Amino acid sequence: MNKFVEETVMQRLERVAAALRKNRMEAHVVRTAAEVAPLVKSLVPKGASVAAGGSESLAESGVAELLACGDYNFIDRNKYDDKRRAYIDAYGADYFFCSSNAVTERGELYNVDGNSNRISMIAYGPENVIMVVGANKVVKDLAEAESRVKTCAAPPNAKRLSCATYCREAGVCMGLGGEMTDGCASEGRICCSYLVCGPQRHKDRIKVILVGESLGF
Ligand code: SF4
Repeated sequence: MNKFVEETVMQRLERVAAALRKNRMEAHVVRTAAEVAPLVKSLVPKGASVAAGGSESLAESGVAELLACGDYNFIDRNKYDDKRRAYIDAYGADYFFCSSNAVTERGELYNVDGNSNRISMIAYGPENVIMVVGANKVVKDLAEAESRVKTCAAPPNAKRLSCATYCREAGVCMGLGGEMTDGCASEGRICCSYLVCGPQRHKDRIKVILVGESLGF
């Protein structure tokens, strides 16, 4: 290939998948969101216990619907009055589903949480973690990942979750351009804990499905 020919989206995703595998994570690449649910079906045995973080990517790809279809033991946090109990039950699940705020070209996962139940389960707990990640979340490096959260991920999430934060109104973090943890002092702040996943000790526990379309934010 002529080195001046621009890399396609799918070529870039394949490159990121190779970096994830090098970091001892399982990686899959699909072209469309419609291919995600059939792939998940092939990865997760019927009857397995499954749980999920709140995620637009899971909803848009049909995975949220699949988890609730009855084929799995779905630990549905919306059915719990006691949310802490729901998170503790999810911690012991066979499979935990979520997206990632960003995936770098070096095969790193970057995630920022308010409640931090999601990042705690990415780090440890469920036997397997399956992430559904649209091409819009692939970034060059951790600096770009940080910036992506402050400009593209946290502001719409603050809106979705009705959190009274600066970014919900301004559409961007007030700490943009500063240090990683710079931002608002709101009680409703959704950027409280920061997790970077690099090379993994438990090979293939984290499985990333990269999708050649835009999903979530
Ligand atoms: S620190 Fe506050 S203003 Fe910045 S993105 Fe997070 S919630 Fe929004």
